[in-house]
Amino acid sequence: MNIILFGPPGAGKGTQAQFIVKKHNYFQLSTGNLLRQEVKLKTSLGSEIEKLISNGKFVLDKTVNTLLRQSIANLKFRDRIIFDGYPRNLDQAENLELILGEFNQTIGRIIFLNVSKDIIKKRIMGRLTCDKCHMTLNEFFDEDQIELHPCGKQFLKKRKDDNLDVVIKRYDTYMSATKPVLDFYAKKANFTEIDGAAEIEQISNKINDVLIV
Ligand code: AMP
Repeated sequence: MNIILFGPPGAGKGTQAQFIVKKHNYFQLSTGNLLRQEVKLKTSLGSEIEKLISNGKFVLDKTVNTLLRQSIANLKFRDRIIFDGYPRNLDQAENLELILGEFNQTIGRIIFLNVSKDIIKKRIMGRLTCDKCHMTLNEFFDEDQIELHPCGKQFLKKRKDDNLDVVIKRYDTYMSATKPVLDFYAKKANFTEIDGAAEIEQISNKINDVLIV
């Protein structure tokens, strides 16, 4: 069963996706991670993507859709995908159903992590992301875990777009472009809302309950 983890930037989608990957043997399809990988390749497409991301703007649907399609087409991930960061607008939501349909797949669960703008700002301002394994930690709350990080703490870096100006832009874009997708999904029978401000473990327990049913 494929899952959509939905929520504003900083809601904890990446963190929870990693728990689901470990516990239920899923594949995390983070469009943000795929785009950052493209940036690292230093291609001309990569440098266009970088400009958009660092200004808090969406990358073009066409670019993101191509990356998404490649993962959905991969039989290794069949029916075990967590969509993290996609869809972000109504066209993408429509495109997701089309591509899944093409490969005889569906969306099994839509899980919405609901978090306020204030909490998002605090989380994103302290966020450190591992360049190697993509794990995220918070420099204000996770001192011990940072020291013990298995890849080495030198790989934990601040994302360029994790600064206050860009966070506010990303949140505003979420409200204007992504919130309509939420309103569309909220009416579906397979939609569950979870308080994303709760403790990480509490959230992952609730997600487990949803996935086991
Ligand atoms: P994320 O890692 O999900 O926070 O995404 C980081 C940035 O990548 C976003 O602010 C966008 O610029 C870009 N991005 C990620 N996913 C998408 C998407 N589905 N559509 C357009 N842009 C995206």
